[in-house]
Amino acid sequence: MMNGKLFCISGPSGVGKGTLVKELLRVDPTLALSVSCTTRAPRKGERDGVEYFFISREKFLETRDNGGFLEYDEHFGNFYGTPVDYVLDMMSNQKRSVLLEIDVVGALSVKERYADDPDVKVVTIFISPPTQAELESRLAHRGSEDAAQLGLRRERVQFELEMCAKYDYVVVNDDFNRALAELNDVIQQEKNK
Ligand code: 5GP
Repeated sequence: MMNGKLFCISGPSGVGKGTLVKELLRVDPTLALSVSCTTRAPRKGERDGVEYFFISREKFLETRDNGGFLEYDEHFGNFYGTPVDYVLDMMSNQKRSVLLEIDVVGALSVKERYADDPDVKVVTIFISPPTQAELESRLAHRGSEDAAQLGLRRERVQFELEMCAKYDYVVVNDDFNRALAELNDVIQQEKNK
């Protein structure tokens, strides 16, 4: 049986990718979601092992130095990394496709890392807002960041939107159900290739 595929889903903060991914897992329960490690503090309501594994900086650097991350990056002063063991176990032993919800730099580096590996097929999908104005308003209303954090995140949005041309697919989150259906179609098609 073929290995599972590795789907990297990115998009600017506030675009709604978290909710899309959650629904996608309900629609296709064979998909496995990789939970990243981060050194940032949990936001209200976030649970260890669910949204992220919340770990110390020391532990993060130790894991990184031991080759424990498929990729990692630093955002807003905190580290984020994808645990390599989980991803490879799901794909090669359990034959399941894996979703990574990671930023643009991480996604493109995963794509590049496996570009010449016939056993690991990486598909990158960018979730884009219908307009930038709409995204700004969603970010401001989320209320989970202070003003300085929000400013940094806005600058980052600009950068991320410019990177979408490098993705295999771009799905516009204009209408939630439509976007979910399109995302699911892309994934089912790629899974069966
Ligand atoms: P947040 O703090 O809002 O949860 O995440 C900040 C950024 O980190 C988002 O763009 C998110 O996609 C990205 N991110 C989350 N996990 C990972 C990861 O494992 N690797 C990388 N490179 N980025 C991640």
